Amino acid sequence: MTSDPCICLGNDSLAAKAAIRKARCVAELADESHFMVSIRRCDACGQHFLTLFCECVDWADGDDPQTWVAVPVSTDEMRQLQTANVAADENAILRVVTSERRLLHHDMPKGAAPRLSWVTRPLFIPAHD
Ligand SMILES: [Zn+2]
Repeated sequence: MTSDPCICLGNDSLAAKAAIRKARCVAELADESHFMVSIRRCDACGQHFLTLFCECVDWADGDDPQTWVAVPVSTDEMRQLQTANVAADENAILRVVTSERRLLHHDMPKGAAPRLSWVTRPLFIPAHD
């Protein structure tokens, strides 16, 4: 027995992102070119994650700011998210995932270096077109 967290929840944010990205997609809640929401399940530990991808179109320079967020959710939250109509109302997400928790945040701003880190805060929906 080990109490180490699975790599998907580990402090190594790069390894965690890789693990979450290759985790199996359980449901697509929104699938637009600038706003994608899905639920993934880690094969190794079974943890569910809600992942958000948001992009703003930068018509001037083509350097589109992008944000990717992954948040661990409980089985109960996952079920609520699947029945909420997230594609029609993105704020439905915030009515299900309400408590502060660790989020994996990959911020890729325009004209600045991307940052990938775990942050502890309530979930937010980044700006998107
Ligand atoms: Zn895992």
